[in-house]
Amino acid sequence: MDGLAIILSGLVGLAVGSFLNVVILRWPRGESIVSPPSRCPACETPLRWYHNIPLASWIALRGRCASCRAWIGWQYPLVEVATAAIWAGNVAAYGLEPQAYRAVAFLTILLAIAVTDARFYVIPDRLSLGGAVLGVALAFLPGAPTVTESVLGAVIGGGALWLVAILGTLAFKKEAMGGGDIKMMTMIGAFLGWKGALLTVFLGALAGTLVFVPLAWKSDRLVPFGLFLALGAALAFYLGAPLLEWYLGFLR
Ligand SMILES: [Zn+2]
Repeated sequence: MDGLAIILSGLVGLAVGSFLNVVILRWPRGESIVSPPSRCPACETPLRWYHNIPLASWIALRGRCASCRAWIGWQYPLVEVATAAIWAGNVAAYGLEPQAYRAVAFLTILLAIAVTDARFYVIPDRLSLGGAVLGVALAFLPGAPTVTESVLGAVIGGGALWLVAILGTLAFKKEAMGGGDIKMMTMIGAFLGWKGALLTVFLGALAGTLVFVPLAWKSDRLVPFGLFLALGAALAFYLGAPLLEWYLGFLR
């Protein structure tokens, strides 16, 4: 893949990451992403355009508001850099081909959901259900999954997690997962097809059980299960075939 396309993809990714930061902070509260314009959460001074340049402004201001010097936080540069890496990395790996579009769309949505869930314990429908529609739409492009596999993936993925949620509630006597996780799984199924969806539910449940059940057992801490589903889904996207073989061996 030529270097210019990769660099341009990375720059577009930076800008998209900057937009994701707004989405992550506003959609969980039901706020608009266009108005009011970006302002400092501490002193409410509207940001000037040159304070709103992805990554560069954060570095120039050393992560502080230009007016009141309040700490802006790490989320901004980290999400911007991660999104840029997703865009540049997948274009480098797949070229400007359908698989790159799928990868970029899927991983960008997963990143937004993972950060939103980890911070606010909410998965906005516009990311989960909106993402499911996008996943089915992208299935019309050549390559896997086909449209049928994508729709089946959405139904089976959502259904499988709904079952896990019921079993989890029975086992732990408290709600381990919410409707947001189930809707997120329909999105994952739409991008991965039903096999990848089942693999994701398995990986997410495994990671969730190993890491979070001990924590949730001891305290009433909420579990951002969407974070684990996002990690499982990213693994399933890139390593689906070898992991499925291992998974089937595990079931036998
Ligand atoms: Zn300020």
